[in-house]
Amino acid sequence: MDPLPLYIGGRFVNGAEPTQTIVNPATGATIARAARATPAETEAAIQAAREAFDDGPWPAATAARRGRVLLEIARRLRESADRLARLETENMGKPIIESEFDVADAATCFEYYGGLATKVTGDVNPVPDEALSLTLKEPVGVCGQIIPWNYPLLMAAWKIAPALCAGCTLVLKPAEATPLTAIELARILDGIEDLPKGVVNILTGDGPDAGAALASSERVDKVAFTGSTRTGRTILRAAAESNLKRVTLELGGKSPNIFYADAAWEPAIEGALFGVFVNQGEVCSAGSRILVERRIHDRFLDAIVEKARTIRLGDPLDRATRMGPLVTAAHRERVAGYIEQGRREGARLVLGGVRPDRELAAGAYLEPTIFAGVDPGMTIAREEIFGPVVTVMPFEGEADALRIANATPYGLAGAVWTRDIYRAFRVVRKLRAGIVWVNHMQPTYVEAPWGGMKMSGAGRELGRYGVENYLELKQVHVNLNEAPTGWYA
Ligand code: ADP
Repeated sequence: MDPLPLYIGGRFVNGAEPTQTIVNPATGATIARAARATPAETEAAIQAAREAFDDGPWPAATAARRGRVLLEIARRLRESADRLARLETENMGKPIIESEFDVADAATCFEYYGGLATKVTGDVNPVPDEALSLTLKEPVGVCGQIIPWNYPLLMAAWKIAPALCAGCTLVLKPAEATPLTAIELARILDGIEDLPKGVVNILTGDGPDAGAALASSERVDKVAFTGSTRTGRTILRAAAESNLKRVTLELGGKSPNIFYADAAWEPAIEGALFGVFVNQGEVCSAGSRILVERRIHDRFLDAIVEKARTIRLGDPLDRATRMGPLVTAAHRERVAGYIEQGRREGARLVLGGVRPDRELAAGAYLEPTIFAGVDPGMTIAREEIFGPVVTVMPFEGEADALRIANATPYGLAGAVWTRDIYRAFRVVRKLRAGIVWVNHMQPTYVEAPWGGMKMSGAGRELGRYGVENYLELKQVHVNLNEAPTGWYA
């Protein structure tokens, strides 16, 4: 099995040994080997991006041309959608219908930033002088982009599309376990003549090596990271201790999903489950804390348990499957550790918590898991589990709901379900979260900003805000007064 190549300076190069084994988590079978970029290979990728930025045509290309390149990437992604979706599912384990959705979403992201390229404008500032004061927007430079394994292709799109829109060059590092669609994306990009070589470099490798090198390089101007809060902190420190590069972080969460008694019942039950079990719960915005108004708590708990029993766990390539395996066996063990801890701390396991047997035994599967009798102070109610595990807690009144909802260091997302629009908006305003859904949970749009408050991150991706993080502002003052100032008269 030939290892997957690195993509550096517009060339596919074989990495030096050793390689990383890539496993299909549904079967445990080895499906590929990926390169693990060495320090020299990482440096070569940074150098290629540096040259493409400092001496290449891309940063100065017209916005229209950059936009057309982005639209062409989108077109080719759609053309290869079936193959990409299959690869994503084989590598990551998510149900094929979710992978298809992700590939379409990735294409939409390139289309959005393709269209936005010609709409990024500066300002004329009303200074009190005979002068023209301009604010120009310029690409921030070479970007290091480090992404997680839960939405491999989509996260690559969220990072690459706005960077290219702004005129930046970049080195993208996919997560260790999920490089397949990123390398496929490199092949797609490589075929686009109008995208100069070296603008996009894709480097498979280990976080503490290749990832850390991107974060600490003096020759990288910005790092964009999606992943755990722990690693985000390491990256911020590396940026601070090197060249104070710009940093955007999209980190963990422990998002509350709040249900009032007056909420529409069926959508609420569905939303409680979809909020946390979509993508096997491996979602930064997972609604992993269900808060239910006390007077409907028991009935609501019974209803979600009953419905969760019907979730189809199985072969992720089967279109009927709604939950596949977790990304790796090691991650399943991490999640299982939390389940064990929940039991030890006295929470009541009402569903799941076990690995399915028989034909699914070889995969990294874990059944949807629901805990009741949870105290907000318990580990499972505080820490991000990043798996199909949810805690259900009762609340009594709005103040109580908000107190529990906001009582974590995270602030990525939250949802509230009620028919009372006044109450909904009161809760929206009081939730300390970057994303709040009302009577829904998880819909995500490239047109709207994404990111968290508190320890869930810094900066926002997507929408027109997303491109701003890849731009520097330059203030230009043009004197329109020909006469001397007379200062030394
Ligand atoms: P997880 O623990 O779920 O793997 P991480 O936040 O560690 O989550 O991983 C997200 C991404 O960050 C991956 O691409 C990983 O390789 C990378 N990464 C991990 N450690 C570091 C580090 N010290 N510096 C830079 N990137 C890292």
